[in-house]
Amino acid sequence: MGSMTGRAGLVTGAASGIGRATAIRAAQEGARVVVSDLELAREPGEETVRLIRDAGGEAHFQACDVSRAEDQDALVAFVLERFGALDFAHNNAGIGGGGELLADVEDEDFDRVIAVNLRGVFLGMKRQIRQMLRGGGGSIVNTASNAGLRGVKRLAPYTAAKHGLVGLTKNAAVEYAEDRIRVNAVAPGTIMTGFARGATPERLAQIMKPQAMQRIGEPEEVAAAVVWLLSDDASFVTGVTLPVDAGSVAGW
Ligand code: NAD
Repeated sequence: MGSMTGRAGLVTGAASGIGRATAIRAAQEGARVVVSDLELAREPGEETVRLIRDAGGEAHFQACDVSRAEDQDALVAFVLERFGALDFAHNNAGIGGGGELLADVEDEDFDRVIAVNLRGVFLGMKRQIRQMLRGGGGSIVNTASNAGLRGVKRLAPYTAAKHGLVGLTKNAAVEYAEDRIRVNAVAPGTIMTGFARGATPERLAQIMKPQAMQRIGEPEEVAAAVVWLLSDDASFVTGVTLPVDAGSVAGW
């Protein structure tokens, strides 16, 4: 018996990186998973599904742009159609962006990052919680960042969105705790996904400086924390943002 046996749910941004690793780990722990990502990422999304099925798990792909309310409606409906229940959700899809100091950020760039990284999580949680209330409970984990816990130069839209996500997580946790819905977040440090893979050795050295372990994390190391928070192993934990960051926060 895995820690997610009998559970059904969804992971957004699951065509790659942390989302793919979470979908796979949740399935290894016995969950049935809807793997979701943008339509343009259907192919790698279907690859996540194939990896789960090849290992004997159950998964399906459903396209969803998290910034679109109608896509979020369709995503929850798809999970219910396939599995008949929504027990967990990992709101993980996110985009980077940045490079400018706040005074130079284009208004449209700010709006774009907020639309996906903050409003997208609001749109998702709202629908997931409505369903979990009908189903008698559930567990949600949102992917923040250690940039959701401190300011980072030249990253204003991203830090604003991730701080907002941490706030939404706390708010939902206190509002729905008595309804048996737990809501938590993870705050990854630098993880080896597309972003870190493209970095020069100099940039990687700079990125690693605050990470006390002096290495970049693997998506599977975040996935393990996400699945722990999603599972009943974390039954007395709600409203927290768990740093998964090789000691970065500890060293601030
Ligand atoms: P990634 O680029 O591998 O994965 C992000 C996924 O989100 C992609 O598959 C992408 O197609 C999808 N996506 C983008 N916009 C979307 C939208 N509007 N709707 C649905 N899906 C969308 O990167 P990752 O590192 O795995 O990122 C996952 C999350 O982790 C993000 O929220 C990111 O901010 C956060 N994070 C990453 C790091 C890191 O170092 N990699 C650190 C802290 C936080």
